[in-house]
Amino acid sequence: MQRFEGRVAVITGAGSGIGRATALRLAAEGATIVAVDLDTSAGERIAEETGGSFIAADVTDEAAVEAVYARTVEAYGSVDVAFNNAGISPPEDDSILTTGIDAWRRVQEVNLTSVYLCCKYALPHMREQGRGAIVNTASFVATMGAATSQISYTASKGGVLALSRELGVQFAREGIRVNALSPGPVNTPLLKELFAADPERAARRLVHVPFGRFAEPEEIAAAVAFLASDDASFITASNFLVDGGISGS
Ligand code: NAD
Repeated sequence: MQRFEGRVAVITGAGSGIGRATALRLAAEGATIVAVDLDTSAGERIAEETGGSFIAADVTDEAAVEAVYARTVEAYGSVDVAFNNAGISPPEDDSILTTGIDAWRRVQEVNLTSVYLCCKYALPHMREQGRGAIVNTASFVATMGAATSQISYTASKGGVLALSRELGVQFAREGIRVNALSPGPVNTPLLKELFAADPERAARRLVHVPFGRFAEPEEIAAAVAFLASDDASFITASNFLVDGGISGS
């Protein structure tokens, strides 16, 4: 059975990592994919591979985000799934003592404000349809103290959790589900870049994963597909952990 047959999914950060794997997964299950990314060549590639389309946009730009959903509905008639996933990780030591205000603001903009904007402009279309599923990418670090020294990142993901919970409750009676998905460490360019700069950090992080390995992007994509599908029809306002058991250990 094709769970996403006839459904349209907008995926931010679809050019790489988790977003890319999810675009491939949802497309394989029948969805029409609208890939959104800053990176034009990666975005065009995933659009070609999924048979969908690509919109080059910066998810921190309100007018650009509004246009993404308007163009999607104009082209395909609906937006059934919004996977708000684009994000960045601060490259250097991001402790409270060293993080400057500009770096802090940038991380909040890309990781949290973008989710606010995507929800703000996806929701009116979903309300009109009387249905929709939103999945926002948070992180396991949002609910764990001392898991990382990345304070701006951790705070931004905590905001994603709170926003998702609030919207999930608020829109449940309108047939719209909103969930946060919290991955553990995943083998994506984002993580590889971070650990290349600090290999010991990778080893330290790995110690906490009961499976003794990091996730592959496809393992996160499978969970996104579940949450975005009707199989998760009674799940909203949740924080869905796909962290290899880190938070349980
Ligand atoms: P990635 O770097 O592989 O992919 C992120 C994509 O987002 C890139 O294609 C990039 O071009 C795009 N992007 C970045 N800023 C953008 C912007 N302003 N506008 C539009 N597109 C933008 O990263 P990933 O590891 O796949 O991470 C995806 C999400 O998962 C992020 O929100 C990240 O915080 C979260 N996450 C990742 C991990 C991990 O270990 N990789 C763990 C937990 C949570």
